[in-house]
Amino acid sequence: MNSYIRAMINVLAVSVTALGGAAWAAPCMKVTLTGTQGGPPVFKGQAGAGTLVQVGGDENKCGAIKLQFDTGRGTTQRLSQIGVPVGKLNAIFITHMHSDHTEGLADMMQLRWHFNSGGPKVDLAVSEDAKSPRGHTLSGRNFAAHIGDSLIESGEMEQRLVENPKRLAGGPKDLINVMAFAPAKEPVVVWSSGDVKVSAINSRHIPGHASYRVDTPAGSVVIGGDAGNDKPKPPRDTSTSAQVEKLAMGADIIVHSTIHPVMGPDRKSGFPPPIYFRQSTATDLGSMAQRTGAKHLMLTHLIPPMGAKRQGPYPIPGGALDEAAYKAAVTGGGFSGNTVVGTDLATVQLPAK
Ligand SMILES: [Zn+2]
Repeated sequence: MNSYIRAMINVLAVSVTALGGAAWAAPCMKVTLTGTQGGPPVFKGQAGAGTLVQVGGDENKCGAIKLQFDTGRGTTQRLSQIGVPVGKLNAIFITHMHSDHTEGLADMMQLRWHFNSGGPKVDLAVSEDAKSPRGHTLSGRNFAAHIGDSLIESGEMEQRLVENPKRLAGGPKDLINVMAFAPAKEPVVVWSSGDVKVSAINSRHIPGHASYRVDTPAGSVVIGGDAGNDKPKPPRDTSTSAQVEKLAMGADIIVHSTIHPVMGPDRKSGFPPPIYFRQSTATDLGSMAQRTGAKHLMLTHLIPPMGAKRQGPYPIPGGALDEAAYKAAVTGGGFSGNTVVGTDLATVQLPAK
């Protein structure tokens, strides 16, 4: 089957599990940052990038549907702090195949296999395999298919299967329902349940990068991921993505990875310019959020982290940044709504409590 046909089948096969939909008398949506670390470095225990979107009503504490966007390092721990077992996630959406957004998934799926082998499977939305012009391929399908391999190869899985033969023989991959889609320049619906719908659009960062929007009866949120402008470097109007802006029109909340302008080549941190240019700056995100009419801008994946003197090996020109430095950058872009400078487990709920 060619990949186009397969992609169309996947789009048609969006999940229709009845999890609630319009059943809630007073619908609500809760958006929680499960990790705010930007890129592979570690800093003071911050978890890797991820956002949990919960939808429901009072009767289920706004948690009838639980959708996880990206699964950076430590996602399991952050979810445990807010009482969300990985076995309760309905679907997981990955923006791109970079470890700071994906490496928590092996841990999450191993845990799910250990205690929830009876199911249900979790839907995993990833881009169809994306070929880079430089010859390599980014593959969410392969990532999922090999998610438990190191523990299979070590012999641990055989040992645990002997202990408990009710577990799935193929390991954690058997609990993943891969829903690969071909991200395009216009949004496509990649998952839905009742009145809750998730759309995806293709955005630039690395091949196969996707940004998502969740529409619910209580409001909408866009998760931009590491999207940057299609033009890889200046001169250009902005560092933000035109596709994300299209996706975010009229959305209540924008969650987006950000880089502070202080890391720019003009400030001589030594941070590699191509890596700087493929992120969206806090200032340009402020401008974009104002244009789309967002009420809340949640900055995450902060480069550099607040309080850090370095981003990996690169010193921060002028010293560590604080919350005010990020807010000033956003305000400088013209945003008049509520800015949340992300810390792990920062939450915005709609309607406001
Ligand atoms: Zn990243």
